[in-house]
Amino acid sequence: MRFGIHVPKQADLPATARYAAQVGCETIQLFSGNPMSWMTGALDAREREAFIEEIERARIGPVVLHTPYLINLATPDKRLQANSLRGLTAAMVRAHQLSARTVIVHCGNHMGAGTDAGIDRAVRMLEKALDRTPPESTVALENGAGKGTEIGLSVDELARLVAPFPRERVGIVLDTAHLWGLGYDLSEKPVLDGLVADLKSGPGLDRIWTIHGNDSSADLGSRRDRHALWTEGHMGRKGLRTVVGCKALSHLPFIFEIPGETPEFDRRRLASMRRLDRRLNGPRNRPRN
Ligand SMILES: [Zn+2]
Ligand SMILES: [Zn+2]
Repeated sequence: MRFGIHVPKQADLPATARYAAQVGCETIQLFSGNPMSWMTGALDAREREAFIEEIERARIGPVVLHTPYLINLATPDKRLQANSLRGLTAAMVRAHQLSARTVIVHCGNHMGAGTDAGIDRAVRMLEKALDRTPPESTVALENGAGKGTEIGLSVDELARLVAPFPRERVGIVLDTAHLWGLGYDLSEKPVLDGLVADLKSGPGLDRIWTIHGNDSSADLGSRRDRHALWTEGHMGRKGLRTVVGCKALSHLPFIFEIPGETPEFDRRRLASMRRLDRRLNGPRNRPRN
């Protein structure tokens, strides 16, 4: 596994890359723009080049971008559809410009229209987004915890969302706290093994591109999404060991989404993850990306 964090924005993109390098990230997630805004804004060419240079120098990869929370792929509201499509394509173009592996987007909310209608709408919007972006640009759908009218919860729903698209362009991100909220007790190895088997026979393991490694302070199966610092939530040490020790997932980037309090905190938690990985999976031969 390659370990990293969602890096809080520093003064500019190169400074953000330097922060990631300084704390020992092997992979990183960044917001594609302001997470609470529709605006992505233009990227300064020099800033972009300097970012890529810093990332390459530190041998960080993959870089993934997270889209703003306002985007709703499954909405029946025409105006929100238009804004969401624009927001998603802007993020995909940004990812392409930053040589990022992919952009991560939540599957969306059906707003009362029902899961099937929501999945159809999300698929149609993804079709348009893929048409409007460079053929190398990709998108990864993040599983939900089941809050409100969210879609993209079960393995079956995720499989239906990605199935219409080429395997190299649309993938899945698994957020461990969202899985917990949905009722998967990942601290139990048989539960995780069962999930992996379902992923294999459903969308296929090659559709899983990233793990969002979050502990959860919500109750198991509560359909609530309350990220906690690992190991301060309910999955705890046992959950972390089960996920990191899972051979079927050990090639994936693993990203902590909760920011650490200090660079020192981030450095220590990433170093301890690498030690845990070595203990559970043996010495690493670190392929890039
Ligand atoms: Zn997310
Ligand atoms: Zn997440």
